[in-house]
Amino acid sequence: MYLTASIPFTSRGLFDMKAYSMEQLEESFWKRVEKTETCWLWTGAGGGTKGRYGRWYARGVKDFAHRMSYLIHKGAIPTGHIIRHKCHVRKCVNPDHLKTGTFKDNTQDAVRAGRMCSGQRQKDAHAHVVYVGEANSSAVVTTQQVLEIRSLWDKNLASRKMLAEEYGVSHGCIYGITSRKNWSHI
Ligand SMILES: [Zn+2]
Repeated sequence: MYLTASIPFTSRGLFDMKAYSMEQLEESFWKRVEKTETCWLWTGAGGGTKGRYGRWYARGVKDFAHRMSYLIHKGAIPTGHIIRHKCHVRKCVNPDHLKTGTFKDNTQDAVRAGRMCSGQRQKDAHAHVVYVGEANSSAVVTTQQVLEIRSLWDKNLASRKMLAEEYGVSHGCIYGITSRKNWSHI
């Protein structure tokens, strides 16, 4: 089985340039996993630090490790969906602990935290706020997420597009956070 651009794995077109066999991806995967009775802990990039998502860099693919696990064990991620952790252990790659969700699901906690993505007044509000479902349900991130996003960005561990997808917010929102134009007080 080969993964090609025709498989809607991510919106980033990871496999546009080259096709990888599932066997090759699995081989790379198992070199970086430590199974426990519950979670499967990612020992590759990002897995060593508490609270961080595991990162996958093998074979030219750059993505979150749990997303690669989902792809390998359960198949392509439905378009427009993100992969969420049921166990809340971010470096866990146990497919039984992963589920697909929508941007709206992902922002519900943040909605409760009550922080608007834009953080402050924007010149163009539409570029910085993404509406998910209802028009009055704008995407938000928490202070903790702002710190995480900046950490991943500053260490060059994720593209803005990748962060936008993972955190379920707009590219403009991620731009505002990483450029310090929003949440400049953090
Ligand atoms: Zn887990």
